Amino acid sequence: MLSPSSIFANELKVYNSKSGTKEAFVPLKEGYVGMYVCGPTVYSNVHLGNCRTFISFDIIFRYLSHLGFKVRYVRNITDVGHLENDADEGEDKIAKKARIEELEPMEIVQKYTVDFHQTLNQFNVLAPSIEPTATGHIIEQIEIIKSIIEKGYAYEKNGSIYFDVIAFNASHDYGKLSGRNIEEMRSETRSLSAQDEKKNPQDFALWKKTSAKHIMRWPSPWGEGFPGWHIECTAMSSKYLGDQFDIHGGGMDLKFPHHECEIAQAEAHTDKNPVKYWLHANMLTLNGKKMSKSTDNNIYPFEIFSGENKLLSKTYTPAVVRFFMLQAHYTSILDLSDNALTAAEKGYQRLSEALELLKNLSSSHTSSINIQQWVADCYAAMNDDFNTPMLIAKLFEACKFIQAIKDEKESISKEDLNILQKNIREFTADVLGVQFESSKSSKESSKLISPLVEMLLEERDLARENKDYQKSDEIRDKLKQLGIEIKDSKEGTTFSFNK
Ligand code: AMP
Ligand code: ZN
Repeated sequence: MLSPSSIFANELKVYNSKSGTKEAFVPLKEGYVGMYVCGPTVYSNVHLGNCRTFISFDIIFRYLSHLGFKVRYVRNITDVGHLENDADEGEDKIAKKARIEELEPMEIVQKYTVDFHQTLNQFNVLAPSIEPTATGHIIEQIEIIKSIIEKGYAYEKNGSIYFDVIAFNASHDYGKLSGRNIEEMRSETRSLSAQDEKKNPQDFALWKKTSAKHIMRWPSPWGEGFPGWHIECTAMSSKYLGDQFDIHGGGMDLKFPHHECEIAQAEAHTDKNPVKYWLHANMLTLNGKKMSKSTDNNIYPFEIFSGENKLLSKTYTPAVVRFFMLQAHYTSILDLSDNALTAAEKGYQRLSEALELLKNLSSSHTSSINIQQWVADCYAAMNDDFNTPMLIAKLFEACKFIQAIKDEKESISKEDLNILQKNIREFTADVLGVQFESSKSSKESSKLISPLVEMLLEERDLARENKDYQKSDEIRDKLKQLGIEIKDSKEGTTFSFNK
């Protein structure tokens, strides 16, 4: 039996979106946590909204690990079966992009999986324990579909298999996660031609027949086809975490139909409730509307780091953007704006400076500050459903007393100073995962680099005056390779450092 090392591990509460309440977190097996989070559909670059959800679950993964739980974190890659409009009809999102970009579907998958990993790396998001793909688990999906048919909760029509929601609902409760009733779901279902194949409009696809012209097809007992979008998560979560596991996460927009369908599939297959705690991350908005790939209301991380966008006045580093996101609770909506990012950057700098001061702080014989209480407050914040804004408020409180100790208005004992340094390091680096640059060393290096870049920009201006655009572009591109971004405007040329 493994016990989590931290004395604070027993006090964790999480908001379970299925019950709609904050519940004490008691894992199914003491000391261990199984967590599944729906990963991206890799048909385009990840936008900042997607990143917010993965950063939210990164915090949860980090904090549970910090408390001493042995966490198995499974986050999948959806590389087949997710159709346009999240429906049972239409083109596969990846196949469609492959057609547009004139690439093989697996080239699309590779290209955007690499982008996903690189982007999350920039945000200092930890890799999950397992990252399974839908195409790597076709056999497992077929086995579960066969079992659901045997139990009487699915049927075949023209080589496709549909889940029979009405039959399932007669003995189970379909809609319990999203709080919808069957009639509401009927009225929400669009009229698409696949509806003709379904017994009822609420039914959803487990397997879709496809013609020989599609490369993404596999043999099955029902002919050649591909799996539905929802069944992959049931197959991969149960394979690596068992029929019942602790946490299932994803963005709020996946609650219905995706997660509702996952519960129905798992219950139809095993007759067990698959998930103890459902955690949903809220949306990042832009201009007050959900950031989304399909509506073009989005901003890509590289546009923020490079300043190549019309919305923001300057560049922001990945660490600042991550810090900005953590200043909101993961269950609240967060709106992205230049002002909000600038404010976050100020806070980030304040913390960087305090961390710098903390390195060389002198101790006294006694403490005038109650450090034990401050540490307990930090844990209380995170134990309250991973309340990062509350934790950050405690870190700002520490900035104040660090300054006061420096100014000799407060005092700290050697022992308390060690506790403070250890906890600040753990809460910033391990739990929040925010990398604070040493402001002193960055100031020193920019003292040297900035005049050198200015010299090159003068050279570039000269080249442009002489219409030698090849040379001016070369200077811009070489600087970009070194992580220095140039921005031309009416007022002149400015530059910024990327991380
Ligand atoms: P997708 O690649 O579209 O399947 O989305 C990947 C993840 O990003 C899912 O968990 C979505 O819920 C989440 N997501 C999509 N849009 C947003 C947004 N604007 N804010 C936060 N999370 C989002
Ligand atoms: Zn999923």
